[in-house]
Amino acid sequence: MAKRQAEESLENVDAAVASPASKKARVEDEIDESERAAPISAAPPSASINGSTDAKANGNVSAQSHRHSHGHVFNREQDERRGEDILAAADVEGEELEEAVGTDDEEDEGDALHGIDEDQSALTAPTRQIAPTEGYNDLYLDTINRAVLDFDFEKLCSISLSNINVYACLVCGKYFQGRGPKSHAYFHALDVGHHVYVNMETKKVYVLPEGYEVKNKSLDDIKFVVDPRLSREEVMKLDKEQKSAWDLSGRKYTPGFVGLNNIKANDYFNVIVHSLAHVSPLRNYFMLEDFTSRPQLVQRFSTLIRKIWNPRAFKSHVSPHELLQEISLRSNKRFTLTEQADPVDFISWFLNNLHLALGGSKTKPGTSIVQKVFQGKLKVESQQITARGDAGDRLRFEDATVHSDISRFLMLTLDLPAAPLFQDEVEKNIIPQVPLTSLLTKYDGIRSQEHLNMRKRYRLLHPLPQHLLFHIKRFSKNKFVSERNPTIVTFSPRSLDMSPYVEPNPALHPPAEPIWYDLVANVTHEAIRRRDDSVEVEADAKVWRVQLRDKSRDEWVEVQDLFVDRVSAETLFTKESVLQVWEKRKTAPPSKR
Ligand SMILES: [Zn+2]
Repeated sequence: MAKRQAEESLENVDAAVASPASKKARVEDEIDESERAAPISAAPPSASINGSTDAKANGNVSAQSHRHSHGHVFNREQDERRGEDILAAADVEGEELEEAVGTDDEEDEGDALHGIDEDQSALTAPTRQIAPTEGYNDLYLDTINRAVLDFDFEKLCSISLSNINVYACLVCGKYFQGRGPKSHAYFHALDVGHHVYVNMETKKVYVLPEGYEVKNKSLDDIKFVVDPRLSREEVMKLDKEQKSAWDLSGRKYTPGFVGLNNIKANDYFNVIVHSLAHVSPLRNYFMLEDFTSRPQLVQRFSTLIRKIWNPRAFKSHVSPHELLQEISLRSNKRFTLTEQADPVDFISWFLNNLHLALGGSKTKPGTSIVQKVFQGKLKVESQQITARGDAGDRLRFEDATVHSDISRFLMLTLDLPAAPLFQDEVEKNIIPQVPLTSLLTKYDGIRSQEHLNMRKRYRLLHPLPQHLLFHIKRFSKNKFVSERNPTIVTFSPRSLDMSPYVEPNPALHPPAEPIWYDLVANVTHEAIRRRDDSVEVEADAKVWRVQLRDKSRDEWVEVQDLFVDRVSAETLFTKESVLQVWEKRKTAPPSKR
């Protein structure tokens, strides 16, 4: 694990461990600009702990909004500080920490050695024990408060902000480094009397300050929430068995169809994570493979997918904080949790980086699960435009030389016909509609398009990928404005025949045989008018949602951050689709309906 330390003052600590911001809290956040701008008061650890403890008594929702009162610190400036400081390991503080708790990079071995060190130096400490006093094994287990635990936030010690050898306090949910005497966890135990801690790597549970390990079956549910892992058999059943689960507060949820917390402006990210978490082969791979030697991007994506599908979660939603922090770092702040971005930009960046982090080749095709699932081939014919004739002639291929190239794609861009600029009064409120199949004619190898002085024709090649990603290009930017095309794309979520857009190749596919695809995820955009006082115009706020197919029930679910609702398959197309994931059907199709 990479060594990461940061010098940050105490007031940021709450941000690092702050609980998910509930929808309610987020709305308050938006209203209360003045509060956000105000300096954040430094809350001493004990004060926040009391806060959390109070809040938990009032149930889940209030606990979140309460704890979120510290969460305002997610503003851009501090986010930047966090990222930069994390990268630049603070040497001075690092030395102090090494002295205090040790900084072994190899967790398993490190922790073992570490434990010995700690226990040896503990011999001088009067209360140090290697085992519980007889009959007192369960003494502190009653103090564990599962309602405050979700382990979704980045595992940084709330005092040192180090990610090395981190323990979670099972009483208040905060993270602390080390467990030896002088460690932050040790002092937390002495200062506030919280005694039970779990190591975030080894998942071993210890009682502090005594220092002995607790082995008790009743802790297994906590260990599962830290790192939910299903067996191969269970994963293979995810799309077949209808499953319902109940969280700690008795709320019913469907594993795989849980809310994702919008911590500040990460709805663009949530819709993409959910889309990818429903691409079965990708999901299964990230749920079952061992990624311990892979970069954090891969490990954290795997953990997030496993949490989304967790059938024994304490909360019926997940906060994607850990993965987002890593993405913010890796993308040099192009994608953060504090500023909305374009989901299509994000998925392009993410799939490429995921591919590389999985050891995929930059040149060789099919070298990672990402390419195996999404990559296809395309024939591109291009010809210089020479005709000076009338406009009607320009779109025909002439006798000039045609260059033919094969290129690979992960995503296909579909262009919308220009929305009419001037409409009479009657037509003004009519939103134009276009069938998806007519957008796909771009790839039929017959129609051509102009790019600068080139004329191009496209045709897909066999074999088509297992999953097709369509980007419906709605947003365009020129020098002055960014424009949005509100055209509605109509489609049926079942039985899209892709064969008309593929170059015949009898060796790979029988001619005239359809190639069926079914929709699995549909990312939609909604423009919401909102007055923006700073520029004194009405600006459109972008709202992103994702519609997902629940395969086991053959139903559709729409997720917008924490909100999860069933939707009718017939109305999916009525929203502005931006990104769609289609899955190739394996079994022989029924006759075309
Ligand atoms: Zn605590």
